[in-house]
Amino acid sequence: MSTTVTASKTFAEFGLSEPTLHSLEEMGYEQPTTVQQEAIPLASAGKDLVVQSRTGTGKTAAFGIPVVEKIDASDAVVQAMVLTPTRELAVQVCEELAKIGSGRGLRVQSIYGGDSIGKQIDGIKAGAQIIVGTPGRVLDLLRRGELKLDRTYSLVLDEADKMLDMGFAQEMSEIMAFVPKQRQTCLFSATVPLGIRGLIHNYLNDPTWISLSEDFAYVREVRHTYIIAPTAHKEQVLYKVIELDQPTSSMIFCNTRNEVRSVSAYLARQGLPVAMISSDLTQAKREQVMGGFRSGKIRHLVATDVAARGIDIDDLSHVFIYSTPDSPEDYIHRAGRTGRSGREGDVVSLVAATDLVSFNRLSNRYELKMIEREIPSDEEIIKRRDERLVAQLLAEANQLPPEALAGFDAFVSSLSGHPDASRIISYLVHRRLAETPKDESEGSDQDNVEGEDRAPRKTASKRRRRPRRPREN
Ligand code: AMP
Repeated sequence: MSTTVTASKTFAEFGLSEPTLHSLEEMGYEQPTTVQQEAIPLASAGKDLVVQSRTGTGKTAAFGIPVVEKIDASDAVVQAMVLTPTRELAVQVCEELAKIGSGRGLRVQSIYGGDSIGKQIDGIKAGAQIIVGTPGRVLDLLRRGELKLDRTYSLVLDEADKMLDMGFAQEMSEIMAFVPKQRQTCLFSATVPLGIRGLIHNYLNDPTWISLSEDFAYVREVRHTYIIAPTAHKEQVLYKVIELDQPTSSMIFCNTRNEVRSVSAYLARQGLPVAMISSDLTQAKREQVMGGFRSGKIRHLVATDVAARGIDIDDLSHVFIYSTPDSPEDYIHRAGRTGRSGREGDVVSLVAATDLVSFNRLSNRYELKMIEREIPSDEEIIKRRDERLVAQLLAEANQLPPEALAGFDAFVSSLSGHPDASRIISYLVHRRLAETPKDESEGSDQDNVEGEDRAPRKTASKRRRRPRRPREN
């Protein structure tokens, strides 16, 4: 997993203890990552923190190091607790804290459902000083009196947005009653929707926010391109770029809801598997769209910044910036949806001539390397489509046993030099494409392209056979 490492302070310069420095060295951590640079000094100073960060940034050590440093190693009571949404994360965090704390000889215990409660109780009784657990099991042990938190002065809520999504709000609220009021609380969350703001308000004390750094760290790693596109033809230009690049998944960011409607309706009319996310969607509808997106049935989501905020999707191949955002920070947040965890990512901005000045301002603000792209030509799109088609047919052919095709040698030879060879091959390809099931992640999420914007679905074969002739720009 790639983690962006910045070259400012070293771990030693944070004033960490020798045993902890030794543990970090053993773990191969040479330089603090961006989120660690920002969070460790503040957390060490006892501040409550809200950190907007995702897995892959080094966030575990960002809270783990200060937590470990604060524990009184000679006192065998629970002094810190990390709540995580899933058992997998609990195990992962527990392992990392145990490694960081090994130099100081600390005991860390994980607590989650689905595993022997007896073993976990034994771990607590053996003198665990740090607990990492999921809310349900933690609350269970608190109610049974097997877990005591009256001397737990450090609390971390990891992936808090996911905890809310998984319906742990009630458990969290009950757990809070067991933790001393005089404590340090750090909340880590990839997104900060309304529910998270509620948690911050209820459980944190005048927190410091760290939000941009790790998005920014990712954003520097991805490809940033822009296309100067006439406002009147932006939708066509976007469609062409999608046809050329064939993103496996994308988010298309617009500045207004009207734009969102118009762009998603346009793309739906072209037969693309698209849906829009708007803040007035019901929860059920939103979940349905997200389910479609995760399963690959929907491949493009059109949204405004506000509507996108509550969406936990950050593994996209492409981010399209359909309209230039007002602030450089919005650009970073949009772009930060791709290229996560060291993966490849493309951010493509469509910039109207009138927006060039503000676009330059935002690329200069963060010294991003922006490469200009031309509007894709029809020839390019067709050439790329044909290359994909050849690769697809060849891959299918290679899956067959050699004898399955051997009987056609004479037929293929007879085609060579035949005046209608290309017509016959075209017909065979046409037949092959017509066999492709229509629901093979093609077509839009019609239910989510509203009212008058709805358009009849085009068939996959229709769309593949002949790309639309683009309008003149
Ligand atoms: P996390 O975001 O906590 O899941 O961490 C992502 C990955 O980065 C994990 O594999 C960590 O072990 C690794 N990591 C965290 N901090 C550092 C660091 N300072 N140097 C190198 N690797 C790190």
